[in-house]
Amino acid sequence: MTARLEQLVAGRWSPGRADALRSLNPARPASVVAEGGGAAPADVDAAVEAAAAAARGWARTPMHQRGAVLLAAADLVDRNAEAWGLELAAEEGKTRAEGVGEVRRAAQILRYYGNEGDRQAGEIFASPRAGEQILVTRKPIGVIAVITPFNFPIAIPAWKIAPALVYGNTVVWKPASTVPLLAMRLAQALTAAGLPPGVLNLVIGDAECGTAIVGHDGIGAVTFTGSTGVGRRIGAGAAARGVPVQAEMGGKNAALVLDDADLDLALEQVMLGAFRSTGQKCTATSRLIVTDGIAERFLSALADRVHTLAVGDPTDDATEMGPVISGTARQAISAGIAAAVAQGATVLAGGRPYAEGPLAEGYFVAPTVVELASTAADIWRYELFGPVLAVTRAADAEQAFGLANDSEFGLSAAVFTQDLTRALEAVEHLDVGVLHVNSESAGADPHVPFGGAKKSGLGPKEQGAAAREFFTHTTTVYLRGGRPGA
Ligand code: NAD
Repeated sequence: MTARLEQLVAGRWSPGRADALRSLNPARPASVVAEGGGAAPADVDAAVEAAAAAARGWARTPMHQRGAVLLAAADLVDRNAEAWGLELAAEEGKTRAEGVGEVRRAAQILRYYGNEGDRQAGEIFASPRAGEQILVTRKPIGVIAVITPFNFPIAIPAWKIAPALVYGNTVVWKPASTVPLLAMRLAQALTAAGLPPGVLNLVIGDAECGTAIVGHDGIGAVTFTGSTGVGRRIGAGAAARGVPVQAEMGGKNAALVLDDADLDLALEQVMLGAFRSTGQKCTATSRLIVTDGIAERFLSALADRVHTLAVGDPTDDATEMGPVISGTARQAISAGIAAAVAQGATVLAGGRPYAEGPLAEGYFVAPTVVELASTAADIWRYELFGPVLAVTRAADAEQAFGLANDSEFGLSAAVFTQDLTRALEAVEHLDVGVLHVNSESAGADPHVPFGGAKKSGLGPKEQGAAAREFFTHTTTVYLRGGRPGA
């Protein structure tokens, strides 16, 4: 059954005033998941006005009360995890188990920030003057533009919206137009949990709608997650207008399997890093560096495992990997694989489009491993955002670290070794925002900083206490008593 796609502005749900948008099931594109009017410029204006009108009242609401709304929403999200996880699988294409896991993750994030009122709210410094203390207090920014990608349709929005709200901001949120149903679910949970009208506004539209939001005069800050090109454009535009931006962008994340690794563990984790969520994670493993001593053995076991990966409808429990998000994505990824082969890469597994049957009808890409002739190949540098792993060999750990750092990106990496000295070298040498030692390159907890080094990210990190840096500004208060001699 097709869901009605509606916008949430000033506490009211209604269809947008632009042309109809529809989200499709990427495993069966003939099936429409949600459909309804997209957001027009007038809807964006109304959403920003509603958020501005609600800002003062929400900022003055005690943080514990704001947090209570998030906690109630977390319970609602958890209660609906099975149903919404299935919808997520149908709309985005990750497996049902991953969909349910993502919905539960969203609840966990809401819960983490729901308890923010119990944590430290500012700092006190000693003053060099008698009778004075110096306080650093935190205040909300105002209206935050939240722009989110398709690949975590509820968890990424939760990790932006929850801190924005708990620190007293109001929000205008535009999700990717391919995943409106899950966006509506999160907004429904927050409104049912008691969020006042206008505090969260959901406008669902295309890139043009996103441009209108981030360029709107009423916006106080922009938090964006998505592709590098778009993030940089948003960053440049916002900087020119003096608007703070937090942008989490692309990655080309390496897994390094060193001679002394536990190869069974490394194999299992590299498979998860490269192919879970169909490789559509910013932290997915898209480069693999293996040292010469174990390369033959590891690559042959990897190719065998990839050949047996169960690809199919993500709502079927036997499926290990679903489709990519769209026909355009499938085409771009297939072109990237073809270009790698043309540049001398050898296909170790996959590599060919599905020619017939349901996998050809849906937006499926075969899980693919290519070994490169040279790291000058485009596939070593550019994110394909699909189930494709580019492999190269290194003589030793030091060369492997150098190859891992050979990227303009620095989001995440995974290193597999049983040698503590090597692990410590990896911690020191790998220029990434997130490093996993003996676990896959993806995976992030809500209470610790998340974000990229180098050109993967702009502005303060996300999640944990790091989020406070972005969603608040400080007021440094020089505080003295008013009575003479006091
Ligand atoms: P995308 O950049 O195409 O879209 C992201 C969002 O930006 C969508 O809501 C889109 O409609 C909107 N948008 C597009 N053009 C815009 C514009 N000119 N102005 C304002 N908004 C605009 O990304 P995507 O395809 O949805 O997601 C995949 C990308 O996201 C990958 O590159 C991936 O690495 C990245 N990503 C990064 C992280 C991270 O934390 N670093 C996490 C998830 C995804």
